[in-house]
Amino acid sequence: MSVAELLKRSVLEHLSQEEYLYLVERAPLGALKEAADRIRREMHSDETVSYIIDRNINYSNICSAVCTFCAFYRKPGSTEGYVLTYEDIFEKVEETLSMGGSGILMQGGLHPDLPLEWYEQLLRELKSRYRIHLHCFSPPEIFAFTQTFRMTTWEVLSRLKAAGLDSIPGGGAEILVDEVRKKNTNKCNTNEWLRVMEVAHNLDLPTTATMMFGLGESSAQRIEHLERIYQLQVRTNGFVAFIPWTLQPDNTKIGRKIPDRQSSEEYLRWLAMARIYLINIPNLQVSWLTQGIQVGRQGLHYGANDMGSIMIEENVITPAGAHYRATEKNLVDAIEAEGFKPVKRKANYIQLEESIEV
Ligand code: SF4
Repeated sequence: MSVAELLKRSVLEHLSQEEYLYLVERAPLGALKEAADRIRREMHSDETVSYIIDRNINYSNICSAVCTFCAFYRKPGSTEGYVLTYEDIFEKVEETLSMGGSGILMQGGLHPDLPLEWYEQLLRELKSRYRIHLHCFSPPEIFAFTQTFRMTTWEVLSRLKAAGLDSIPGGGAEILVDEVRKKNTNKCNTNEWLRVMEVAHNLDLPTTATMMFGLGESSAQRIEHLERIYQLQVRTNGFVAFIPWTLQPDNTKIGRKIPDRQSSEEYLRWLAMARIYLINIPNLQVSWLTQGIQVGRQGLHYGANDMGSIMIEENVITPAGAHYRATEKNLVDAIEAEGFKPVKRKANYIQLEESIEV
């Protein structure tokens, strides 16, 4: 088994997990970069790099789960807990639209008391007031809804879709290996996360998928995560993008045990690996928000074809230490400086028609 042979085979066939593990542990970073870049150029031969203008509206920080890596949540009953009013949310949407935004990413803690009608009514109001894409509620929230409202995943998602939900963000995946999850979170397990996504895809709701790494998991466990995502995509073809990022440990429980961030080299190695592994997912997003713009720019040569969002507002990973910020001009300039053509897109990765003048 040689690195060169495996990289050649990886574009023609799906390798075994042992072979991918061999690659990620043994291949020189330059070889992974070259292979990932070749795949990316074949998949996106128009040399475009997409980005989006949106914001992360966190409707509530009250959460009945406990995650070692979260600096955002407050327990039910906390004096620091909040639930945004509809009016608060409308104001945020209007500001987003005024900045050229196409949609909102809306996620919250696992609130134990809000009824399903609160979410449905909110989606309906947003759709009736604004021309906007609603990319909302990651699998842990959807799974929590099924538990709280004693409904099936199909019922919950059907109702939210009927109320205006357009697509689902792939958050809350972290590492999809229960051994890792049990040590770090009591929200949905691996199969429950994947089940939400499978039902969403079957209902024609596109979704993204993510991987947050650096929780002390092994390379083999990261490979298992990629395999679970790959296998679901074989069945459903509903993932439109994959977004890996690294643990931000500040102000978190796990940060007392693992205070150091993953290196940029480690990030780029796994970004390239994701492109090589997930050959059946069309888009790969670089996480400039956790890595900074310079590493984000490098990532465009390690398989990524999407620069993510200018993220007008972000409240979840910012308190954990992701302090990088960028304007639309910063993203466009970065994309052009790396020799690519910037295109604006929606949360479902459909490109927007209008030309870019920033
Ligand atoms: S990551 Fe999400 S589910 Fe976990 S504690 Fe934070 S808000 Fe709650």
